[in-house]
Amino acid sequence: MALRFYNTLTQQVEDFAPMRDNTVRMYTCGPTVYNYIHIGNLRTFTFQDVLRRWLQYRGYKLDHVMNITDVEDKIIRNANAQGQSIYDYTAQYTQAFLDDTATLRLQRPERLAKATDNIDVMVQNIQELEKGGYTYQSEGSTYYRIANFPEYGKLSHNDFKGIKAGARVDVDEYEKADARDFALWKAAKEGEVAWDTPIGRGRPGWHIECSSMARKYLGDTLDIHAGGVDLIFPHHENEIAQAEAITHKPFARFWIHSEHLLIEWEKMSKSAGNFYTLRDLLEKGYEPEAIRYLLVSVPYRRKLNFTFDGLNGARSAVQRLRDFKLRLDTGKFAEGVDEQIRVAAERARTRFEESLDDDLNTAEALGSIFEFVREANIAMDNGEFRAGNVAPANDLLARFDSIVDVLRPSEKQGGLSDAEIEAKIAERTAAKKARDFKRADHVRAELLEAGVILEDTRDGVRWKRK
Ligand SMILES: [Zn+2]
Repeated sequence: MALRFYNTLTQQVEDFAPMRDNTVRMYTCGPTVYNYIHIGNLRTFTFQDVLRRWLQYRGYKLDHVMNITDVEDKIIRNANAQGQSIYDYTAQYTQAFLDDTATLRLQRPERLAKATDNIDVMVQNIQELEKGGYTYQSEGSTYYRIANFPEYGKLSHNDFKGIKAGARVDVDEYEKADARDFALWKAAKEGEVAWDTPIGRGRPGWHIECSSMARKYLGDTLDIHAGGVDLIFPHHENEIAQAEAITHKPFARFWIHSEHLLIEWEKMSKSAGNFYTLRDLLEKGYEPEAIRYLLVSVPYRRKLNFTFDGLNGARSAVQRLRDFKLRLDTGKFAEGVDEQIRVAAERARTRFEESLDDDLNTAEALGSIFEFVREANIAMDNGEFRAGNVAPANDLLARFDSIVDVLRPSEKQGGLSDAEIEAKIAERTAAKKARDFKRADHVRAELLEAGVILEDTRDGVRWKRK
């Protein structure tokens, strides 16, 4: 079966291949840099990371553009309140975004495009829309006349027949099913950042930013445009109206949207007190790999219910995989190949690949790996696992980790603390006393992996950092 994705535009699962030369031209809506990103944002960005990695696994090259929205209502308000320029204000959150996504091991898109670096491109696009008769002016602002684009609503599958012609809105986000003419260009207001351009003094709306930059970097038709479901309307609907009114070509062949993240089945909000940034979770002591695992584990089209139980479960799942990897690397196995395990590894690989080809079914893909780990662990316990099974098992884990990327522990600042090392040594000593040498060796290997070398002396155990 071919690689396939659910396309929001057609509401069908469709076979995917890029339009030309093996390169996937992809645009994803990036952050509005006025705050630290929260776990809901991270769900979307992690889904896009899995999408990127799976396309690469399947042999495609990527040309992925992500915008950085660094001029918008909230940014202007917050920067003004703090007496900063929008450039200084957004620089700190742009850096925080890059740091946080790197912590979660999200691949950096090939190109990051800042809105404020591309004002001229947006102005050109607005001028082209003007020429086509899709715009009108009011009090210095330029609006998109959606009544002139009959296909409006085709992405969100909303029926906008009853819309009031000429009703318009100045904010970038508004209620579903309330289609209105939206601002392409907002007239300068007292105390707001503005640019002097042929279409007047002002600043761009959010929607024109994305469609203009997508066209500039990737051409008239994208292979994939992705984002969270909350962007389908009005943002992506408006992007289509802007781009296709100019080019008369499909703006994107595939529209791929990830579902919401909920906290204990509730919508996350600052007022409800269930609002978590990545930094909040790290401060609580969760490692990035557990957070990443949790976000990857739920297929992107299902709602993800975030709970701390779930996060603890993710943490032990990661640990189980690392324990297995360690056993594989340090175990002593008899020569030969166990046929059952050989077949199990092949089966797991096939199921893993078929699951991800199937619209990125990550839950099924993880299931295939854990089934293999369970079988292999039992075979090791029974002495059936053979030296010839090690390489295929490692190959399977490497394939899994090229997508899920949780096996390697993040380097903590300074590694394990002295107290943590002493606690591990005490655990090993207790295991030796109980004649549980397997456990003792395991702890020693764990410490070695963390860069700590043990030395057994007559005076007890000495340790040092590598
Ligand atoms: Zn966008």
